[in-house]
Amino acid sequence: MLLTITYTGEHTQELGYLLHKNPARPQEFPLSYGKAYVFYPEVTDQRTTCALLLDIDPIDLARGKAGSTEGGLFDYVNDRPYVSSSFMSTAISRVFGTAMSGRSKERQALADTPLPLTAKIHMLAAPNKNMLAEIFEPLGYATSIETYPNDDKFPAWGESKYVTLTLSATVLLKDLLNHLYVLIPVFDTQKHYYVSAEEIEKLLSHGEGWLKEHPRREYIAGRYLNRRRGYVNQALARLSEDEPESEQEPEAEKKPNLNQTRLQAVLDEALACGAKSVIDMGCGEGNLTRLLLKEKQLTKVAATDVSFSSLERAKEKLKIDRLHETVQEKLSLFQSSLTYRDKRFEGYDCACVVEVVEHMDPPRLEAFARVLFGFSKPGTVVLTTPNIEYNVNYEHMRENALRHGDHRFEWTRAQFKAWAESICGRYGYSVITKEIGENDEATGAPTQMGVFTLCV
Ligand code: SAH
Repeated sequence: MLLTITYTGEHTQELGYLLHKNPARPQEFPLSYGKAYVFYPEVTDQRTTCALLLDIDPIDLARGKAGSTEGGLFDYVNDRPYVSSSFMSTAISRVFGTAMSGRSKERQALADTPLPLTAKIHMLAAPNKNMLAEIFEPLGYATSIETYPNDDKFPAWGESKYVTLTLSATVLLKDLLNHLYVLIPVFDTQKHYYVSAEEIEKLLSHGEGWLKEHPRREYIAGRYLNRRRGYVNQALARLSEDEPESEQEPEAEKKPNLNQTRLQAVLDEALACGAKSVIDMGCGEGNLTRLLLKEKQLTKVAATDVSFSSLERAKEKLKIDRLHETVQEKLSLFQSSLTYRDKRFEGYDCACVVEVVEHMDPPRLEAFARVLFGFSKPGTVVLTTPNIEYNVNYEHMRENALRHGDHRFEWTRAQFKAWAESICGRYGYSVITKEIGENDEATGAPTQMGVFTLCV
């Protein structure tokens, strides 16, 4: 992934002061999935070019960030290392953050002057090439593109959707960087992070002074926010407000992410059933366990997982050694498989099984059901699993893909209900199914939950 910015004119080496990057010294910056390099391939009085090169590790991407339970967002074979995308925006703000804000310690007057600048964005996904002009020309840029055949030897295979885009204008460096930051991911909507409400703030702050007047602002907001209707509407409503946004309630916008919402929903159910003891089955790194340990209502908490390394992480994250003695006594942590009967699963009022069943091979599900509902028999089971119908709302996902590389299946709402009801029939439970997360009218919410109660 490569972005170059060229300044032509006189004393163009000054670009180094504006970008706060010394032309004589190549620099390296760590990013969450690789590295960014900044260097100057040309430095003359009349023409200076600064390059931002990203080296993204496709394996890290597929596996997910170290320490994350969410796992990878992309397949092992992916185009992410080569294509200009949200990674480039993240790198621009990480590496050129001061320049983006328009500040320059040593050359403020130059930072406040429109300069003849050219940006070249290599490999931008543009299935609709006309859109490039529609988006960039209203901002004053002359655009030109280089196209590529899908295959050198077979012209009949047509043109690749990837282009190299050159933008030129006399523009403030700060404006150019903010335009790139917002607009690169508008063309490549496979974000490397889940789009949350915070993205509205980023869009509005980097879009300040130009997005409001842009004839394609709806398209830009829609694509930048991954077509999440609620967010897009909020962003557009704020853009059309006459008054600049005041400082009122900035915190109110901050919604918890799906993971937090899910854990809170599970915790609420575990407490609502009156449980005094809870077992977190397939606890992973212990995110639910941590919440359970804080609850005074609970006198006994267990956490178990088949993965030794997850349990090690859980121990670290829970800071077990440093917990108060009474809390340590409450907790037991052990390795086990949920598909084998185990005495240690018995004696809990409530069992929580959060985002675990979809990791089991379908032929093992019956063994799991027998172990949990047949032998361990807690009074309440709170179980969550993804709703596959919702996946179409994740733009970064390929059609028919599952949310995580280790998922063996994901259920529709009807499939989950059918499975839950079959459990009830066989093991003497009743179930209520609920949805967790933002509810999409057509596809439901991202997570589904079953609250099973043992019939007495
Ligand atoms: N409940 C946690 C982790 C979910 S990830 C959370 O919500 O954050 C799924 C977890 O299930 C992984 O940690 C995995 O090791 C565990 N798991 C998968 N199959 C299992 C099995 N058969 N027995 C026990 N744990 C299992």
